[in-house]
Amino acid sequence: MDPIVTVKKIKEKSSSLHPVMHFRTITKHRNLVCKYCLRLGLIKQGLTHDLSKYTPVEFWRGVKYYQGNRSPNDAERRQTGVSKAWLHHKGRNKHHFEYWIDYIINEDGSVGFGGNRMPRKYVAEMFCDRVAACRIYLGDKYTDAAAYDYYKRAQKWTMIHPETGAELEEMLRVLKDEGEDAAFSYVRKYLHEDTEKSK
Ligand SMILES: [Zn+2]
Repeated sequence: MDPIVTVKKIKEKSSSLHPVMHFRTITKHRNLVCKYCLRLGLIKQGLTHDLSKYTPVEFWRGVKYYQGNRSPNDAERRQTGVSKAWLHHKGRNKHHFEYWIDYIINEDGSVGFGGNRMPRKYVAEMFCDRVAACRIYLGDKYTDAAAYDYYKRAQKWTMIHPETGAELEEMLRVLKDEGEDAAFSYVRKYLHEDTEKSK
């Protein structure tokens, strides 16, 4: 084997490098989401996206369960039965549908549990987040269909409000079928309709 490749592999395995690598991964992701959010005029959300990942409870667990090509949360879950990093994260970041899971009051007055409807600006941020995550984790293998396929694979167990789910799915479908420029103009229009309505 090429000695440079071998050294690289050893380095990748060395957990002492994980703080740096984890920091790089989350920062790269944050920068890309920020760029996407700015493209949609969501300035504050772009600048503050995922800042809780730098708090000790999330950061050091991310380092410990570092995977490189996917989220560390599943590894933490497998090992300890619960991802405390994720519980901390989803409780503070409104762009995750999990933040909005709570009691729901059905039309007939009965009470259940499920996804509440998300405000449009967070649905748009969730779109940016998913596209950026796919780009960063998949690298060269990324295609415009990646985020749509990921959503469809997980749809069965995704506890999201049906209307919110349909809104997100349509954004991802436009991305898959018509490309990034078309998808961003679709999402911009979707956000604009919301401002029009609230006037
Ligand atoms: Zn997040």
